[in-house]
Amino acid sequence: MAYMIQAKTEDELKGVTLTILKKDYIKLSEFYNKIMNHDVIYCSFCDDWISSNNFYTSKKTKDGINHCGCKSCLLDQATDFDKKTKIRLDNREKTINVFKLLDIPFIESVYKSQLQLLADDVAEKQRTTAYQQLLTLTRSLPQYKGKTFADSEFDVDSDQALEKEETKIIQKTLKSAKKRFGTNYNQEELMFLENEYQDWTNRYPCDNKSQELLFKRVCCKELEIDNAQKNGKDTKDMDATLQNLLGSLNIKPNQKTSSELTDNLTFGQLIDRWEQEKPIPEPEGEFKDPDKIGLLIDVFFKGHLSKMMGLKNAFSTTYEKFISKYTVKKPEYDEDTDSEALFDKIFGQKAEEEV
Ligand SMILES: [Zn+2]
Repeated sequence: MAYMIQAKTEDELKGVTLTILKKDYIKLSEFYNKIMNHDVIYCSFCDDWISSNNFYTSKKTKDGINHCGCKSCLLDQATDFDKKTKIRLDNREKTINVFKLLDIPFIESVYKSQLQLLADDVAEKQRTTAYQQLLTLTRSLPQYKGKTFADSEFDVDSDQALEKEETKIIQKTLKSAKKRFGTNYNQEELMFLENEYQDWTNRYPCDNKSQELLFKRVCCKELEIDNAQKNGKDTKDMDATLQNLLGSLNIKPNQKTSSELTDNLTFGQLIDRWEQEKPIPEPEGEFKDPDKIGLLIDVFFKGHLSKMMGLKNAFSTTYEKFISKYTVKKPEYDEDTDSEALFDKIFGQKAEEEV
């Protein structure tokens, strides 16, 4: 407990004069009166008695004062303060915690706009923080009157959404792990097993049930060996079993030359491997499609296909343009004039009048 003026002991009393005693008594009673009158309040962060002006008010306590800390301590709790540079920076998590402590609503949109205002206002040199601004606003504006921390408004799209996504992935992994390995393992073990299983089956071919079973056994053995090693037990037998399993799967490293290993891989896995080890580089300028192969593919494959399927897109237009060079068009007559002229030529101009 903070320093409080103590009453004098009997021995001390014997040695003092009446004047000193009087003075000390007044000092003592003044201090205790201050506490009784709520002029000074105990701040647990300072571990001291602080003038009540330095505390926020509260409607929930009998004395009308929020006792969770003095103003400057709460500011320290809600922000990051660098003692060397004397720069105080906002910290969202800490601010939320202090708002929870004060039981006032944290309005994320207002907090963010205050952060933005501070960021724009370079001249002010960060004399204030978004925490202080938001605190003043939520405590003074009528729409937040009587509201508590439970009325806080958070942005859903920020951290929470990310966290949700993460838990979703973990839950999904756990679900498939339980399906594959049963429920005899704890969550941590299941995560390990499933991740190992996915890793093995991504790197090596696994296209029938017996391979699946063997990979499952490999993962379980790995876990067993890990646990045994942690407990300082002998892993010789288990290692041998693991080796056997790998042997059955034909993926034991010491027996295999690299070409034999590649023989086991599917074409997709091979491409993946080449792309990892020796990816095809981008061609240099002079080798970049000198024969316009790209254009020919666009015209005669994609373009032709689009035209066949009756799709109107950039490819079909390119196709039409390209092919028009080699197209002969039927001559067309202008119906109104040409046919009339032809008719006249055959039957004479005044055919009708003569009949
Ligand atoms: Zn304090």
